[in-house]
Amino acid sequence: MTRTFAVPTSSRRQVLDITNEVAEVVQNNGVSAGLCVVSVPHCTCAVFINEHEEGLVHDVLTLIDGLVSGEDWHHDRIDHNAGAHLGATLLGNSVRAPLEGGNLVLGRWQRIQLIELDGPRHRRINVTLIAG
Ligand code: ZN
Repeated sequence: MTRTFAVPTSSRRQVLDITNEVAEVVQNNGVSAGLCVVSVPHCTCAVFINEHEEGLVHDVLTLIDGLVSGEDWHHDRIDHNAGAHLGATLLGNSVRAPLEGGNLVLGRWQRIQLIELDGPRHRRINVTLIAG
């Protein structure tokens, strides 16, 4: 099954911790063991799992900015957001975590995070639960 929730973003580039929202979907849908897939149906944002620490969030944004800035990207001729598409391509549109006992299995410091690269926008987050 797939459930969707919306996340409004407020800046051009931003990282948001969505772990609690994903955990709420997991807890309300009765799949106690299996796999949780979190994906975004968008081309200019991405999801990743890592520590949600202010300095690291800054570093992730700086890393992506450094990788995608300063080039004459062809897509910028269309709508000036090639960097956002490329950053999203590098990071990917989905992450996965096991489910055990009706809960996400994550490491102590791991958080599921949405990275906005072309905001502000309303983003949809899909949570797919696979029993197994
Ligand atoms: Zn574009």
